[in-house]
Amino acid sequence: MLCPKHPQESLLPGQLTEGLKSHSCPICNGSWVAADDYQTWQSTQADPSMRVSNLQVPINHGGDYQPSRYDNRAGLCPSCGFYLVRGRINLQKVSFFIERCPGCKGTWYDDGEWALLNELGLSAYVPVLFTDEWQNYVRSAEAEFRERIATAEKLGPEIAEKLFDLAKLLEQHPNGDFGVAYLMRRFEK
Ligand SMILES: [Zn+2]
Ligand SMILES: [Zn+2]
Repeated sequence: MLCPKHPQESLLPGQLTEGLKSHSCPICNGSWVAADDYQTWQSTQADPSMRVSNLQVPINHGGDYQPSRYDNRAGLCPSCGFYLVRGRINLQKVSFFIERCPGCKGTWYDDGEWALLNELGLSAYVPVLFTDEWQNYVRSAEAEFRERIATAEKLGPEIAEKLFDLAKLLEQHPNGDFGVAYLMRRFEK
């Protein structure tokens, strides 16, 4: 098997993390994971009923992450030769691509990407990261994040925090709309 980013370089067998077989490039430190090996490992990690909307992704992850310089380089599947399809991980301060083969569904992680997925709590949900549902989820989570910042700037952090708590309480309450109606009445001129 050859490195997708260095087609002259052979990948060496190893482990990406305990229980997860991989093949890595000695030059760029990227790692290839076969679909079967990922699934075997994933079944020991992930909650199969987990939905994208239940993931707690730290949108505002503060890491000073520098994507690998090979992140933008297109690559071929080391196993079957198809062009790898890129899945974008696009958070507030962190943006990079992971890659997957459309044929064998194996995945490629440039140096550092697996560790970061781990930090973000996403390493056990890689297939999800290639869905539209994921892209939509990140967009709406980002919008909510920005709205919270703007609200805190207008009201001050203390009142903003109370407001977020109240909004949550009302959302969870079966008669929450009565609370909203009350507030609206108070502000009617
Ligand atoms: Zn390489
Ligand atoms: Zn393939």
